[in-house]
Amino acid sequence: MEKTLAIIKPDAVQAGYTGEIIKRIEEDGLIIRAMRMEHLDRKRAEGFYYVHRQKSFFNELINFMTSGPCVLLVLSAYNVINRWRNLMGPTDPKSGHPDTIRRAMGTNIERNAVHGSDSKDSAVYEVNYFFKGTEIFER
Ligand code: ATP
Ligand code: MG
Repeated sequence: MEKTLAIIKPDAVQAGYTGEIIKRIEEDGLIIRAMRMEHLDRKRAEGFYYVHRQKSFFNELINFMTSGPCVLLVLSAYNVINRWRNLMGPTDPKSGHPDTIRRAMGTNIERNAVHGSDSKDSAVYEVNYFFKGTEIFER
């Protein structure tokens, strides 16, 4: 079964949205296979977002992602990568449908509440970046 990495970002954890986001995940039929709270340090966040290291917003993004604890999750389901990104909505919260998590709980293009892997290759990298095989419960 396909897997993806989801992150409830520091803004959403701080705002008390963790439970609402987990509820939406489970109501959509996505299965939580692993979950952990972690306060990323700069090295850990930079390694995770290394594909963006040349972007103008990289330093701000790392400041934000290290500003408080995150909730890291491994989700699985048929087509879960696309299904989770559809629940999240687009990067910029204001351009999403009102039902999307980012529109409902995000603040702006940076503080956008959640993360989701964007391809099969990035999902494998990201799941393995944060979780050992023994921490992922297949059933
Ligand atoms: P994510 O990878 O977090 O799921 P995404 O795939 O929708 O989000 P990316 O282009 O991968 O978007 O950007 C990664 C993250 O960097 C965004 O979620 C957001 O927090 C931040 N970001 C992206 N674009 C900008 C921008 N123009 N200004 C500030 N921050 C940005
Ligand atoms: Mg991305």
